[in-house]
Amino acid sequence: MYRDKTCGELRIANVGETVTLAGWVQRIRKMGGMTFIDLRDRYGITQIVFNTEVNSDLKDAANLLGREFVVQIKGVVTERTSKNPKLPTGDIEIEASEVKVLNSSAIPPFTIEDESDGGDDLRMKYRYLDLRRNPVRKNIELRHRMTMEVRRYLDSKGFLEIETPMLIGSTPEGARDFVVPSRMNHGQFYALPQSPQTLKQLLMVAGMDRYFQIVKCFRDEDLRADRQPEFTQIDCEMSFVEQEDVLNLFEGMAKHLFKEIRGIEIEGQFPRMTWADAMRLYGSDKPDTRFGMTFVELDDVLKGHGFSVFDNAAYIGGICVEGAASYTRKQIDQLTEWVKRPQIGAKGMVYARVEADGNVKSSVDKFYTQEVLQQLKEKMNAKPGDLILILSGDNAMKTRKQLGELRLEMGNRLGLRDKNVFSCLWVIDFPMFEWSEEEGRLMAMHHPFTHPKEEDIPLLDTDPAAVRADAYDMVINGVEVGGGSIRIHDSALQAKMFDILGFTPEKAREQFGFLMNAFTYGAPPHGGLAYGLDRWVSLMAGLDSIRDCIAFPKNNSGRDVMLDAPAPLDQKQLDELSLAVVEID
Ligand code: ASP
Repeated sequence: MYRDKTCGELRIANVGETVTLAGWVQRIRKMGGMTFIDLRDRYGITQIVFNTEVNSDLKDAANLLGREFVVQIKGVVTERTSKNPKLPTGDIEIEASEVKVLNSSAIPPFTIEDESDGGDDLRMKYRYLDLRRNPVRKNIELRHRMTMEVRRYLDSKGFLEIETPMLIGSTPEGARDFVVPSRMNHGQFYALPQSPQTLKQLLMVAGMDRYFQIVKCFRDEDLRADRQPEFTQIDCEMSFVEQEDVLNLFEGMAKHLFKEIRGIEIEGQFPRMTWADAMRLYGSDKPDTRFGMTFVELDDVLKGHGFSVFDNAAYIGGICVEGAASYTRKQIDQLTEWVKRPQIGAKGMVYARVEADGNVKSSVDKFYTQEVLQQLKEKMNAKPGDLILILSGDNAMKTRKQLGELRLEMGNRLGLRDKNVFSCLWVIDFPMFEWSEEEGRLMAMHHPFTHPKEEDIPLLDTDPAAVRADAYDMVINGVEVGGGSIRIHDSALQAKMFDILGFTPEKAREQFGFLMNAFTYGAPPHGGLAYGLDRWVSLMAGLDSIRDCIAFPKNNSGRDVMLDAPAPLDQKQLDELSLAVVEID
């Protein structure tokens, strides 16, 4: 037997017991005739003492040990004279009588402690060592607990966990596919699923009624901080449901997770906010509702006073930043530079300060009388000491998004985005389509299988851009943690949707014939959603990047620096796959 106790479980009550532990040597300290070792395993750290003066075998062994050696230690649990209240095992230590080196270790490239001296790249290359560190390991444990709770909750609601294939066909809608060449089918390719969307719908046609799967999805997109080329979804689908049924069940799951994982009870129903309101009030389809600072449209107050920037704007909107009138000129200039950065893209920013006496001072005083500025104050509901920040532009949607970024930035600066406060809501009634400049056509905002709102169906023929969908996102603290929709289950409506999206009937049949065909055999009304597990876990753990909760993540260029992938194939493999790599400029 390698061990009878772990490095995390011994307490004062165990004093006097003879135990055997196994683990990694985290630290070695020599003090006179004593050698102290911090022995670590997944469960914790236990201090080991070698009294090398009385036992010369131990002295030899202690001299051989190095950091990250794997050792087995037998000894007696004793009470420590100087206790360490920071460690759960800090009241005791093991007085070693025997030590056995199970494996030696090369000198690790960085310190394997809570605060490591290793940079990101180095830690990614040696991820298996990074995973030995408490903060990283804890995220992986949290992830495990979350998936267990997800399974428990969904099982209790009658969901079946069903696997769907990883090698499927490529679909043109959505992101780019990762493709896999087929050796046995010359010149043909599988695609890795961007999501099991159509398959889960087929499971509903198959009568499975309630499906879920914790599943890897693959999207060949340009990467951002919160994106990985492969990521995990909690993918769900239900039959005979309307939108509210889905929202209620999955809000129940969110509450269950908050309670079980964070011990937080979320009372009442999650607010439902329409997409139009989210854009109007927050300039975002995933508003961070931990704080207010909602937008106020100011066209009626600020237009027509000779300030051409506002007079010619398609949209003028402001936010009232409570208590920020003390912002200095320099800070405001910095903020103006901040909104003008290419990532935000505003042309400039106008501010108005409400002074202690109630007077308003603005950067465009020469165009506005105090009377108009007072109207501005009223409209913004601003009080003495508040700062009003205003953006305008010739594209209302773009300007709203810029103001949304400014709002989040002010939220950060004022400390209003506390990671331990959670604000959840559903954003509903998304537009069915969005215009793609790149493609020059309407694209499905969610996906082509989404059901239009019943009352908007007539608009499909007359004004498709105005059609809203039975689509919803769950948003927590400005993060879209999940999204889904009620699906089309009628083959004629599905065909119409493909037509609006620019598919010829032949192309639609070629790509999605299997689905439309299935719909002719009694498809039940159905709907569902998918949660992004990585985002969920990082939100629960208060992480900035989803990478930190993935055991073996890719870096920002989509590389696995540990496995050194992707990599070229050798000629033999290329030949077997009938592939040739050619340079295209
Ligand atoms: N398949 C969708 C997605 O990946 C989610 C859903 O509609 O259920 O975004």
